[in-house]
Amino acid sequence: MNYQRSSALFTEAQKVIPGGVNSPVRAFTAVGGTPVFVEKAKGAYLYDVDGNKLIDYINSWGPMILGHAHEPVVSAVIDKAKKGTSFGMPTEIETEIAALAVSMVPNIDKIRFVNSGTEACMSAVRLARGYTGKDKIIKFAGCYHGHSDSFLIQAGSGAVTFGAPNSPGVTQGTAKDTLLATYNDLNNVEEVIAANKDEIACIILEPVAGNMGCIPPAKGFLEGLRNLCDANNILLIFDEVMTGFRLAAGGAQELFGVRADIVTFGKVIGGGLPVGAFAARKEIMDHLAPIGPVYQAGTLSGNPLAMAAGLAMLKELNQNRQVFESINKKTEYLHKGLNAALTSEGVKFTINRVGSMISVHFSEEPVIDFASAAAANNENFKKFFHGMLNEGIYIAPSAFETWFLCDALSYEDLDATITACGKVAKTLA
Ligand code: PMP
Repeated sequence: MNYQRSSALFTEAQKVIPGGVNSPVRAFTAVGGTPVFVEKAKGAYLYDVDGNKLIDYINSWGPMILGHAHEPVVSAVIDKAKKGTSFGMPTEIETEIAALAVSMVPNIDKIRFVNSGTEACMSAVRLARGYTGKDKIIKFAGCYHGHSDSFLIQAGSGAVTFGAPNSPGVTQGTAKDTLLATYNDLNNVEEVIAANKDEIACIILEPVAGNMGCIPPAKGFLEGLRNLCDANNILLIFDEVMTGFRLAAGGAQELFGVRADIVTFGKVIGGGLPVGAFAARKEIMDHLAPIGPVYQAGTLSGNPLAMAAGLAMLKELNQNRQVFESINKKTEYLHKGLNAALTSEGVKFTINRVGSMISVHFSEEPVIDFASAAAANNENFKKFFHGMLNEGIYIAPSAFETWFLCDALSYEDLDATITACGKVAKTLA
């Protein structure tokens, strides 16, 4: 495939945008080469500026669960845009989407909309601190909750891809309130709690980790955290920015049957527009301004275009709940196919999958936490990534990311992907 125009555009972009991108992983630094500049997308396909057509397994990092340019979402945005793009005043559609979200997700009474997953997680932690009157938080190494200061401590995703899991610019004062624990290791969490008794406001985690590749919670891990939180007056925050409205209508809480105290959302809930949200039971949410003392605000929060896209998306998912089953089956089919293709070439790998989140680690050992994810063979990952791209398959350009499937994928697309994987597997060590 030819990426000449992408390459030229990247050169120009680097002159005026740091690294040529507005979010680091897009620059392909982890895998090398030229990032693909996209022209348009429809359904499961990306069309780039060089005229290449790619099967998309990133789907804007999760939001496009029904495929790109999904008609009901696009029309809702166009119709709304004609009536004005922002007011900074209440609109009826905000209540409509809030009521629908609250009806779909367990254990929440109220929800507030923000503009990104970062904002949602940052605000959720502030709320947890305000509600409990405690300062410290526990996060897990390799989990990513956006780029606000408290979370850039052993963070996953781009932070680790770029070798900066602890970013310069985060003060010691902030860092000392973020306590680290090991994903899937309840004993470790218990030790951290014991060493900081009565000081911990919340535990925040991705109930299925997606920012060190995909890592499922071990059996009993989420339940164990729930019990530890109850026993120690700590709030449990599920960061469902990836898993919300993807793994099930009610997200990971529904899938695993574990209750969170605060839940954060992003990605699918905005239908591809910049939206995040955080939600909880009434008694927690009522601690927020204007009725409570915890301050949080946003000029563009609840923006009409964003709400129109999100509402159209949630309505589709709500009315057509078998979509979760359909997309899970497709991902399972892909999982089996990739498994067979890599096995037949003798490649050492582990595939982790939960629902429509899946990733390939080039390691024979089980990948259960950050250390085991980081121990995988990155040279093989790079070759795999470029091999797949050359075959027209667009997967995440870092081993510390997850693939997100969309329901627009056909079984022919999946077969083409598995065939490509078989070819590429021959080139791997
Ligand atoms: N939490 C999780 C689990 C995420 O995966 C991400 C982003 N990928 C975020 C929070 C931050 O969301 P945003 O990029 O919209 O700020």
